[in-house]
Formats: sequence, structure tokens, C-alpha cells
Amino acid sequence: MPPLRRLVLGTGNRKKGLELIELLAPLGIELVTLAEIPSAISVVEDGDSFAANARKKAAEQARHLNQWVLGEDSGLVVDALGGAPGIYSARFAGPDAHDEANNALLLKKLGDLPLERRGAHYVCHAVVADPVGEVLAEAVGRCYGRIRPTAAGSGGFGYDPLFEIVEYHQTFGELGPVFKSVISHRARAIRQLVPQLAALARRE
Ligand code: IMP
Repeated sequence: MPPLRRLVLGTGNRKKGLELIELLAPLGIELVTLAEIPSAISVVEDGDSFAANARKKAAEQARHLNQWVLGEDSGLVVDALGGAPGIYSARFAGPDAHDEANNALLLKKLGDLPLERRGAHYVCHAVVADPVGEVLAEAVGRCYGRIRPTAAGSGGFGYDPLFEIVEYHQTFGELGPVFKSVISHRARAIRQLVPQLAALARRE
């Protein structure tokens, strides 16, 4: 297999793509998003876990493009909802749901539960597949917090205006991108992935 020189970020979510580019830039390899590759396929996310979906997104896209691909699946796990929305986070309120609708449904389901019963965490499973679709690197990151009864801040995306980091008394929406690039589930997964990617880039 050729060494890793160019990595396709296998996500159609623009804000997620920007976060990934920032996190991976120090690696010094060429990063390309799906938006720049018209022939990319849309991989069906029908796995039963974050890991299964991330592997599928990486391996199927890599085989199709014959390129190295990073597939990532992430979502919000809420304790009081038995782990929902979990792998269905993007489409919690329906197949084409926007962030606002997903957030409104989350608040409705949690009702007036007190703050101490609104614990939640984000999960990010990240996978790198080589150009024949073999998974060669994998990592998972988690970030713990709780769901505020009202939104605060406009940073980030998805559930970020509701997701409070308890120690800082602020949501990801308020804390902004620098903070997120240090402690988020995505940052934690990518930090574990970087040494594995560096080794793949060094291979001759
Ligand atoms: P995916 O694109 O299928 O992995 O779905 C990810 C979904 O999980 C997003 O659409 C959001 O609803 C949620 N999510 C994942 N990561 C984040 C994050 O960093 N902030 C807010 N919401 C997130």
C-alpha cells in the first residue's frame, strides 16, 4: 500500500469538516474534503454503533475513490434517555432534521428534569482506511457534560448551545472553537489518531 500523503475527510458536514482540518493540519499531509470530490459516494449509515458507522464511512468511500479516507461518526448520548439520540443524533427529529429541530426535541424529552439528572456525553469514533478499504487506524474520544434547559451561545454546531461543560459553567456554544479543539470528543479521538497517521505517512 502506498504511504499516506493525502487524506480525504469523509464527512459531508461542513462544520465538522472544518474542525477536522484544524485538528489534522499539524500532521503536514494534504487534506481534502468530500465537497472537493464530485465523484464521492454518499455512504449509508446503517451500522448499529458509532464504530460500525465510522468503519463503513471510511472503508466504502476509500474503496470507491481508491484513496486514503478518514471516516468519523459522532453523536450525543444522554443518560436520562437511555443513550438516545446516540447514532441517530443527526436525524433525531426526522430524516432531514435541522439542528434547531433536534435541539427542540431534546429539550422536550428532558422536560423539567433537574440539572443533576441531565448528564450526557459526546462520542466520536474515527477510522482511517487505506485505498483498498482496509481499516488501518482507529480511535475513540468522549467529552462529558450536561444538557442545559435553555440554549446559550452560537459557537460550534448541532447540540453545542445546549451542551454544558460543568467545570466551566458554559456551553460549547459559548466556549467557542479554541476550547472545543482542546477538550471535545473529536479533538480527543483525533489526538489519539495522529501518531498512527504519522506512522502510516512514514511508511515507504
Ligand atoms: P454524523 O454526521 O452521522 O456523525 O452525525 C453527527 C451528529 O451528532 C451531528 O449532526 C450532531 O447532531 C451531533 N454531533 C456530533 N458532534 C457534535 C459536536 O461536536 N457538536 C454538536 N453536535 C455534534
